[in-house]
Amino acid sequence: MDFQLSEEQQILVAEAREFALQEIAPYAARWDEDEHIPRGQIQKYADAGYFGMTVPSRYGGRGLSALDAVLVIEEVARHCGISGRLIVDHNFGAAITILHFGTEEQRRRILPTICTGETLMSIGMTEPEAGSALTDLTTSAREEGGEFVINGRKHWITGAGEREYTLLYARFNGAPGPKGIGAILIHKDMPGFRYAGRIPSLGVRGVQEGILEFEEMRVPKENLVVPPGSAFGRLMSAYNGQRVGASAVALGIAQGAFDHAKDYADERRQFGKRITDFQSIQFKLADMAIDLDAARYLIYRAACNADRAITDRYESSVAKVFASEMAVRVTSEAIQLCGAQGYSRNLPLERMFRDARCFTLAGGTAEMQRIGIAGSILGRALPQHS
Ligand SMILES: Cc1cc2nc3c(=O)[nH]c(=O)nc-3n(C[C@H](O)[C@H](O)[C@H](O)COP(=O)(O)OP(=O)(O)OC[C@H]3O[C@@H](n4cnc5c(N)ncnc54)[C@H](O)[C@@H]3O)c2cc1C
Repeated sequence: MDFQLSEEQQILVAEAREFALQEIAPYAARWDEDEHIPRGQIQKYADAGYFGMTVPSRYGGRGLSALDAVLVIEEVARHCGISGRLIVDHNFGAAITILHFGTEEQRRRILPTICTGETLMSIGMTEPEAGSALTDLTTSAREEGGEFVINGRKHWITGAGEREYTLLYARFNGAPGPKGIGAILIHKDMPGFRYAGRIPSLGVRGVQEGILEFEEMRVPKENLVVPPGSAFGRLMSAYNGQRVGASAVALGIAQGAFDHAKDYADERRQFGKRITDFQSIQFKLADMAIDLDAARYLIYRAACNADRAITDRYESSVAKVFASEMAVRVTSEAIQLCGAQGYSRNLPLERMFRDARCFTLAGGTAEMQRIGIAGSILGRALPQHS
């Protein structure tokens, strides 16, 4: 076991740190206020080589490891959670599902365009009546004349209506249970695709969470990425990496909040001395640092043990639960350390607090992760349906 980053990784981190300072930090508050990050800005992440880092070079990527991607994501998220999430979405999730489970034709057609930023990807799983109970989803795909005809509704889809492709999870030919679920690539210009509006949210506002509706949307058969059958478990395994990526965003946000709070507290004077001269403030800083380190090494463990960006389910869930709850604690304590200034919109802490809050929900709630962890401990599936 080696806790040192390689020389290449140290360079990657240094470059990402500089990039984030120059290209992201000055604008992050504005994107939050505008509730929009411009496409030109997103393009910069692709141009910097931060999309498709985990994609092999034969498909246009950099062939880097999951840990390499995590290191970049952490640096970016220290200044801007939504930028971190954009990089996650184009290194894990849909990209990795296509890489591992898609056809060679899909890999050649889609992956290079993800790496260049030409194609942005969403994941469409959640439905109004199927959130944690994902296997209850009802969006249907019916085979007809060499095509699939899709009907249904998804909500809370990150990037809905803006991103070109969505990897859509649907129930094929009416087959019940997990075995009926497969994944198919849909494009926002396909007839029958409808963007049905944005869901206003507490944080991560620069990227929209939206509703998608499909009415008799015809999708060519060659867009089927994961056929229904026995694939649901494998399909979800590709999503473990997304959870580790999201955990790295939570970590980065918390680290950013900690950095601000530490600097502020070390300058702020009350009762004639620096507030960091009071032991209770020192203990707060120490506890925050312990929290950050614990999350960091759980995330790094899951990333290091990944098989081409597919991470272990147990390790991913442990990292996600700890990092997401840690980020809420640390960003909240950062506000506390800065007093009323921390609560004001003059500092980025309130934005970081709002942004951090999403990670115990998005990507599978902390409760559902705990159920998965308990299943691993007990060595059996823990069905939730009565
Ligand atoms: C910012 C954000 C971005 C998102 N992006 C996407 C996206 O891009 N694509 C996508 O498909 N989805 C996305 N989601 C949706 C997300 O995956 C769901 O919100 C999540 O899976 C929970 O579903 P739900 O909101 O319907 O909550 P519910 O399932 O209704 O759960 C409500 C509460 O009950 C708890 N609960 C439910 N069942 C159990 C149980 N058996 N035992 C114990 N507790 C239980 C939950 O943990 C939660 O606390 C996003 C969500 C957010 C907030």
